Amino acid sequence: MPVRLLCLVLLALCAGPALAQQHFNILVYHHVAEDTPASTSVSPATFRQHLTYLRDNGHPVIALKTALDAVRNDEALPDGAVVITFDDAFKNIYTNAFPLLQEFNAPFTIFAATDPIDQGFNDMLSWDQLREMQAWGATVANHSRDHGYLVRHSPRDNAWREQMAASIRHAQQRLETELGDEVPRWFAYPYGEYSEGLKSILQNENYIGFAQHSGGVYRGSDFYALPRFAAAGVYSRLETLGTKLDSHPMPVNLASVPDMPTTDVQPSMTIRVDDTSDMSRLLNCFVDSAWQDARWIDDHQFQLSAPEPLSPGRHRFNCTAQARSGNFFYWYSQPWLVLAD
Ligand SMILES: [Zn+2]
Repeated sequence: MPVRLLCLVLLALCAGPALAQQHFNILVYHHVAEDTPASTSVSPATFRQHLTYLRDNGHPVIALKTALDAVRNDEALPDGAVVITFDDAFKNIYTNAFPLLQEFNAPFTIFAATDPIDQGFNDMLSWDQLREMQAWGATVANHSRDHGYLVRHSPRDNAWREQMAASIRHAQQRLETELGDEVPRWFAYPYGEYSEGLKSILQNENYIGFAQHSGGVYRGSDFYALPRFAAAGVYSRLETLGTKLDSHPMPVNLASVPDMPTTDVQPSMTIRVDDTSDMSRLLNCFVDSAWQDARWIDDHQFQLSAPEPLSPGRHRFNCTAQARSGNFFYWYSQPWLVLAD
C-alpha cells in the first residue's frame, strides 16, 4: 500500500508524530571572547563546554543548509540535530571559535553585515578570514549592509521598502563578490527585529529569514522569521540550554500568529495548535522573564496577554508544554517589538 494511502487509513498514527519529528534547533552566538559585552558573549572555555555537551548528549551539529533542505523536503534528520550560527562577524570567531569548531568538526554559519568588514574595522573579520573559514566548510550569509534598525520606520512607506531592499541587495552583492555564488539567500534580521513589511521584502527577493527568538524549526515554521535560541550571556548555562536543545517546536498554526511590530503596549496573542495530542494541557508561559498565566480557550487555542504595559523595544512571550511521549517540551516563542506611538 503506498505510504500516503496508508497514512490516510491510519491518519491518527501518521499525523501526530510526523508534525514534530523532522525538526532541528539553531543556536545564535555573537562573541566568543573574555573581553566583550557579557550579554552577547561566551568565553572560549564555555564555548568548548557547549561543543562537548552537544557531542556527548546526542546533539549532532549539522550544516544549516543540510538542516533546511531536510525539513523542507521532509527528509530524515538526525534526532536532536543542532545548527550553530554567529551574527555580526566579529574577529574573535576566527581567533577563538574557529579552532574549536575545527577540533569538534562542527559546521557553522556566520551572518555578516558587510560595511564594517569593507571598512576594515579592527574587531571585525576580514574577507580573507571569511574565505578561509568558508574553504573549511563554513557558510557566510547576509546580515544587512550596515546593521541598522530596519524595522523602526513606517513599514508601508515605499521609500523605506526601497531602502531596505537596497541594503539587503548591496550586502548580498558584496558577499557574492568576495565569497562566490555559494553564498545562500539567507538573511538574519539585525537585532532579530522583523516586521510584516520586511518579511515581504525577503519573500520578494527569495530569501529565508532568521530572527532571534526561541524555538525549533520544522516544516510548518515561518521561513521568513525562523527562531534561534540565544546561547550567550545568561543563556549560556548548560542546564537551561540543554532543555532548549531537547525541545521540539510547538506545531503552531501560523495563520493565527500576530503581526510584528505593534504599537499596542499591552499585546495579547491567541495561538492555535492544530495537533495537541502529544502536549500536556499545562502550559508554562512567560512574558519576558515573568511567569504568566495562559488560558486555553478551547481544545486547540490558548491566549496569553501582557499583564501590564510593555516599554517600547523588544519583548518575548514564551510558552512551553511538556510532551506526553517523552522527556521534552514543546516550545513556542513570540517576539514583540513595541513601537512608541
Ligand atoms: Zn547582529
